[in-house]
Amino acid sequence: MRRFCILIFSLLGLCNAYAQVDSLSVVAVEENYTVFAQGIGAPVDTLDVGDRRIRIVLRDDNTWFLIKNIEALAEDELFTSYWSEHVVNPYTKEPFDSIHYRTTICLVDSVSHFVSPTKGKVFSKFGIRHGRPHTGCDIPYPTGTPVYCAFDGRVRLAERHRGYGNLIIVRHENGLETSYGHLSRIDVKPGQWVHAGDLIGLGGSTGRSSGPHLHFETRYRGHAFDPEWIVDFESGTLRKNVFVLRRSYLSAHSKYVPQSIDEEEEIYMTEEQIRAEEERIAKERAAMKYHTIRSGDTLSGIAKKYGTTVSHICSLNQGLKPTTTLSIGRKIRVK
Ligand SMILES: [Zn+2]
Repeated sequence: MRRFCILIFSLLGLCNAYAQVDSLSVVAVEENYTVFAQGIGAPVDTLDVGDRRIRIVLRDDNTWFLIKNIEALAEDELFTSYWSEHVVNPYTKEPFDSIHYRTTICLVDSVSHFVSPTKGKVFSKFGIRHGRPHTGCDIPYPTGTPVYCAFDGRVRLAERHRGYGNLIIVRHENGLETSYGHLSRIDVKPGQWVHAGDLIGLGGSTGRSSGPHLHFETRYRGHAFDPEWIVDFESGTLRKNVFVLRRSYLSAHSKYVPQSIDEEEEIYMTEEQIRAEEERIAKERAAMKYHTIRSGDTLSGIAKKYGTTVSHICSLNQGLKPTTTLSIGRKIRVK
């Protein structure tokens, strides 16, 4: 990042200053930031483009590329409000109602790209796990596996936390935060600007963890949503460039469902329709009932108690079969 800042300052000082920047730095920056980078000329001028956070750099061979203006980004409300270097979720005072029914989030564009933090099959998914919310995806890997930053952004937190072990949280320009838990090593510091694809730490099994894996979270204004809505971890690719985040996703009860929504319909649905659907989901959730297994409990006994059937209970709990041995203390959904 230091090299990047040096470049910006140098470019502002125009061509004379450019001569002082070593050519390797320029190449590195261009690889990270350019889209229209076919030119090989020396940068000679920068131009503003309406958005203070982005600048156009002109080369002496009449080509150009885009760079980010980190100074302007740092002043953006996104990076100044609800900023804490020690609190995992600093947004707790913000009312849930202040979040729109749907928010369009630009994940990648001409100056921002994506790199999967790691690749692999999701071993434990986002959602309710053993009756408790699991607010991220778990991807197993050997200790020491490099962990990469998903999007450009600024490190907000980088320290050990109960449960999470060694944890990094990065805030991104698209308004999301990504979290990387159970690391064996942290390579970044709070306040540091990072790029998509930067090595930020190494995988491990610190904190409440049963084996080395990456616990990866995606949050919007402090609320976690299933990272699989945006990332296919097996291929290490982004599912879409623009993501329509629905408020109803911001709950451990809302899991990614492949191709559940027709994209067209999603975009043209009215606020009214979305609100009606949210209300329906909320009612369904309010009607949910859980039972904690006690000594002597049987599925048929539980079904009778709640006026339902064994097969219905099994359909509500992933992996539960009429023959499953019920362990005491386990929470199962009965309605
Ligand atoms: Zn996890």
